[in-house]
Amino acid sequence: MRIHITYTGGTIGMVESPHGLVPGADMRGWLRRLLDDAHMDPSLISFTELNPLIDSSNATPDNWQTMIDDLRAHRDEADAFVVLHGTDTMSYSSAALSYALTDFGKPVVFTGAQHPLGKIESDAAANVAGALNAAMQSVGRFHGVGLFFGQHLFAGNRVSKSSSWAFEGFSSPSSEPLARTGTPWHWYAGIAAADGCGWRDPKPYARHDVAVIDMAPGITAARLEAMLTPRPEAAILRAYGVGDVPSDEPGLTDVIADALCDGVPVVIASQCQQAEVLLGHYEVSDAIARAGAIGSGDMTLEATYAKVMFLLSQGVDAADFGRWMSTSIAGEISPRSL
Ligand code: ASP
Repeated sequence: MRIHITYTGGTIGMVESPHGLVPGADMRGWLRRLLDDAHMDPSLISFTELNPLIDSSNATPDNWQTMIDDLRAHRDEADAFVVLHGTDTMSYSSAALSYALTDFGKPVVFTGAQHPLGKIESDAAANVAGALNAAMQSVGRFHGVGLFFGQHLFAGNRVSKSSSWAFEGFSSPSSEPLARTGTPWHWYAGIAAADGCGWRDPKPYARHDVAVIDMAPGITAARLEAMLTPRPEAAILRAYGVGDVPSDEPGLTDVIADALCDGVPVVIASQCQQAEVLLGHYEVSDAIARAGAIGSGDMTLEATYAKVMFLLSQGVDAADFGRWMSTSIAGEISPRSL
């Protein structure tokens, strides 16, 4: 089986510098030794090192598109794909790629590490071996974008970084993993849930002005208005619980309604890791529901943000935004949330 590896940066290939960790390890040489030890034929593996390699904290939608371009350029040369990526924004990238690659037809598996390769305490070798194995085993089973970390393979648009230090650094709070490692690996039944309606001929990702704003007890209408000025192209408000906002705060729900009136799609997400947003379930969200705010269902913040960026890049306008946010494009939202 042929595998293409796209290396984007991240701790996995970092070295010490006077100012902290930076990309710089010999990833190509390290991978060659790992594959030799696993008796994998190196002629079946192709490798791209993106330039520049980045700390994924610096990733933008332009970097998502660079990854997509590399995967598409190698599509016919490989059966499965692995993307080596920093952990900080890996779940944003994996969600973003899931929307843009619904027509790709081959598995793509992201992974990274909490410690750089070559360190005795590193999880790099285990994660890369797991991702290669996941990518190969996915052929014929799962052809979307996945994320392997620790002992689990997750759907790339259902996963969040949940720990800055644990070897099980990712979790998918609203859906079960696709598989877990072990002897043998166990594949869960819900893989079909990764299906969505797809998107034909996606336009490239471009950067758009999307505001992500947290509610917090005591937030005022003036503060919220300031955060929405000048008007962004879309806003994601991270509310409480099932999408609740402090409606007794004078003028606060009017600020949200005014932004909607100005043509800004306002998506209401939840600060709960495991959430199903149900606008209008409580009276506190009734006014914004009636004003046209869009609930994010059970999507992760990463899947929600990447989807907003995807829809803006496709030129979807405010009138169609709500419909698309609640439609499963690549399995990112559960049917019960639709
Ligand atoms: N800051 C690093 C990055 O996201 C963290 C990591 O890779 O674990 O690139």
